[in-house]
Amino acid sequence: MRRKIVAGNWKMNGSKDLAQTLVSDVRSQAASLDNGVEVVIIPPAIYVPDVVASAGDVLSVGVQNVAQWASGAYTGEISADMALDQGCQYALVGHSERRQLFAETDAAVAEKVGRILASGLQAMVCVGETLEEREAGKAETVVAAQVKAGLATVASEQWQRVVVAYEPVWAIGTGKTATAQDAQAMHASIRQVLSEMGAPANEISLLYGGSVKADNAAALFAEPDIDGGLIGGASLKAEDFVSICRSV
Ligand code: PGA
Repeated sequence: MRRKIVAGNWKMNGSKDLAQTLVSDVRSQAASLDNGVEVVIIPPAIYVPDVVASAGDVLSVGVQNVAQWASGAYTGEISADMALDQGCQYALVGHSERRQLFAETDAAVAEKVGRILASGLQAMVCVGETLEEREAGKAETVVAAQVKAGLATVASEQWQRVVVAYEPVWAIGTGKTATAQDAQAMHASIRQVLSEMGAPANEISLLYGGSVKADNAAALFAEPDIDGGLIGGASLKAEDFVSICRSV
């Protein structure tokens, strides 16, 4: 059985207050979920200690990015080991905002994945095509290339700590969601690519992200290859986020 995961990516939103109140609220509601979902909170790194304190052992915690280096003279960066040290279980990497706004390349993603897995954390690796690429009929090719390049260095015993999040760029923060059928088709294609790479593809959780809301989550999660979601905007309200967690 693959793990069902719902992760909330706060992006550059939130506050110390939110890290305490929202997370406590989500924790108390998530404690009674009986669908086996793992709920992950991914706040800005500076709030990780507050979120870890509020999360207890009910919720998992992640960072939104780590450096591709182990340590040293990289002002402003944080390492995978530091995230682990502060109580994280996950690190997100390759988010389209990082790729587009901070020029994160597939090669950098691969190096970061290497650091994340070497530290003992789990890697949540984002892939996804732009609208232009989809309209040109290249979506599957683009995503397959991102999967192959970003996960090129994963060793066979590390696959169990890899999660892939498919997030079509045109669906992020736009209110446009991929149809459940389109998302399922891409997830099946990603699983095929993973299998060709020699990964235990049927054991790897594949999350969908991009305008997932309380009212469209159930249809997406009902698809056989969609094992959960990576949630942006809707993860900032406890009620909406928990409702999505309940839909898996
Ligand atoms: P969204 O963001 O749910 O606000 O579209 C998803 C993401 O970027 O992870």
